[in-house]
Amino acid sequence: MQAGNKRYRQGKLQLRDYSPVGERRAAEQKPFAAIITCADSRISPELVFDVERGNLFVSRIAGNGIDTGTLGSSEYAVAVLGVKLIMVLGHSDCGAVKSAIEVVSNGKTYPASKYGAIGDVIDHLLPTVESLPADERNLARCVPANAIAQAGDLSRRGPIVAPAIAEGKIRVVAAVYNIANGAVSIVR
Ligand SMILES: [Zn+2]
Repeated sequence: MQAGNKRYRQGKLQLRDYSPVGERRAAEQKPFAAIITCADSRISPELVFDVERGNLFVSRIAGNGIDTGTLGSSEYAVAVLGVKLIMVLGHSDCGAVKSAIEVVSNGKTYPASKYGAIGDVIDHLLPTVESLPADERNLARCVPANAIAQAGDLSRRGPIVAPAIAEGKIRVVAAVYNIANGAVSIVR
């Protein structure tokens, strides 16, 4: 994945099978990694890591938090699909993290009557922002801290992920995608 990200940054994507349909693709999937990343439209995991469709099992939620959906999807990737790696991928200029900072630092609220379930998504990010000193509650600090915290949360979850880590079957890493230059940095 790091080699693929280097090709992406250098604009040297490899020629791949981009046929939208086909018997081979329809028959099965064999991803080698699961990714939990933000819903931000500027992130395309297959392009960022220069891999084919079918290589990455991607769960997305604004702010790349661990909720029932991203947890259960990742558990399926481990237990059924046999992925060897789960990456929690945050990114620069994350709107969800910005909103969490607004809540913690400026008392912004997201009442359900007006914002629906948006506040629930932001809630996953608040403990990390709250854990940082007031002068570190900025995007540059909170984005990697959130990715690390979510990866840590995921790593402790039983009965699938935590045992798989303990048995050496999978690794869970946290990373940050820099939208401006395309680089993915592993931060945990
Ligand atoms: Zn985001």
